[in-house]
Amino acid sequence: MEKLQDKFRGALIGLAVGDALGMPVEFQTRGKFEEVKGFSSGGPFNLPAGYWTDDTSMALCLADSIIAKQKYDSFDVMDRYSRWIREGYRSSTEKCFDVGNQISKSVSKYGQNSIIPPDEQRVEAAGNGCVMRLAPVIIASIASGKDVINTERYAMISARETHYSVVAEHVTGIFGGLLYMAITGSSKDEMKELIYSLVSDKKNHYIQSWQKFIEKNVEEIKPTGYVVDTVEAALWSFMTTSSFEEGALRAVNLGGDADTIGAVYGQLAGGYYGLSGIPKEWIEKSFMHDEILNIADQLAQVKTYSFSFRDSRFEIDKSGPGYSDERYTDKINH
Ligand SMILES: [Mg+2]
Repeated sequence: MEKLQDKFRGALIGLAVGDALGMPVEFQTRGKFEEVKGFSSGGPFNLPAGYWTDDTSMALCLADSIIAKQKYDSFDVMDRYSRWIREGYRSSTEKCFDVGNQISKSVSKYGQNSIIPPDEQRVEAAGNGCVMRLAPVIIASIASGKDVINTERYAMISARETHYSVVAEHVTGIFGGLLYMAITGSSKDEMKELIYSLVSDKKNHYIQSWQKFIEKNVEEIKPTGYVVDTVEAALWSFMTTSSFEEGALRAVNLGGDADTIGAVYGQLAGGYYGLSGIPKEWIEKSFMHDEILNIADQLAQVKTYSFSFRDSRFEIDKSGPGYSDERYTDKINH
């Protein structure tokens, strides 16, 4: 298989595999549950083994939208998130059984008024719902020949849709850049160098807790739903292990928001090691795996991925890009 295709497939199925591995121990305290060694059933929603949760449902909504529109269409993405919540579209159980606070609020607000006015207040909350679903955006961005900076911008645009938070956008942008690097063949050392250079930049004060994160011991890693903590937990699991399997088990055995830490880890490690680096048994036992691999292949065919203010529900985009990073002052395809 072509190398890039293997990596695209790895990133998307890795997300679903990590989600399903963590599902049974979501909300549990590290060390207080039987160590996860593979798929099992259970969890707060009592799902069969290999079934995934909101993380993968949202990623598939996003993927479907990109494939249908061959661009980033803010309205279509939100329509699909609404259908997931209302009708169970892309749920593993045909019903929406789990939705994060910020996402629930944004989607219900969208139902009342799809347009975000220019004076909309940024929110303080920065949950991990914006980063858990990211892989389709990065795959389409790479497939259509975007560079890493543009890819980070697309990551931020996709985050803002449900998380109108400066921190959530930035951390999703950083993670998007790392996912780009993992898929396109950067080494772990190169990724580590980038993370530490970002941490040492005072402007990125929100990721100060990532200082020397690779040297932290397990007690210092916080498996919370805060996007900064979740991404750190996933990066720590990735950087301190040497195979998809080893890192995935380290990630989900942190407990807490285990399924989402698994999904964030899974996209990155799946992109890095490729489909061929993920245990076959895990791929074959994950729900809907054939269709997920097919979706990754369709994302790999996206050639014209773009974003324009006409496809944005954020009115601020009419006068330039509305996402928050002052580094990104030029426009995308306006
Ligand atoms: Mg979940």
